[in-house]
Amino acid sequence: MAKRVADLSQAELERRRQHDRGRWSRAPHRDRRAYHVAYDAAHAAEKRAYRAAHRPDILAYHRAWWAANRDELNAQKAAYNATHRSGDVERHHRRRVRKAGNGLFVVRERDWRRMLDRYRHACAYCGAAGIPLHREHVVPIARGGRHSIGNLLPSCSLCNARKGAKFLIEWRAELLRAAA
Ligand SMILES: [Zn+2]
Repeated sequence: MAKRVADLSQAELERRRQHDRGRWSRAPHRDRRAYHVAYDAAHAAEKRAYRAAHRPDILAYHRAWWAANRDELNAQKAAYNATHRSGDVERHHRRRVRKAGNGLFVVRERDWRRMLDRYRHACAYCGAAGIPLHREHVVPIARGGRHSIGNLLPSCSLCNARKGAKFLIEWRAELLRAAA
């Protein structure tokens, strides 16, 4: 039966950690992805059959696990959300994109952080730094743009608002006209 994470002894937790580490260190390091893809391909039928045969048990197990850990998981989530606003930002963008019917992509936090690093935590358009940066959709969502890391740039709120639903080339033309 599902065990509460909180009920596991330190020794048991450490044993599980060691087990996971051991599993990774035994796996071919150089190409874990290829290893997993090959493994899944080789065992696909077997896995499917197992899941089909054990479906009620698997569902019951997950339900029991969730029920046993609900309070902790909710507390964890609340604590996380209190300090990580990006979860809300991400949900907001996903909702917009879904509404526009542009296909759903998930932007991983790690990829967004990498993007911020690449732009030295400055606005990709005006270079302003030390201010909150928005997830700017280069191809606007309103014009069919997707919410994917390939369509995002860090932008200050001013540039984000000014560019609005314009394509980059339209915005640039507008700026050139204004400067002329
Ligand atoms: Zn800017």
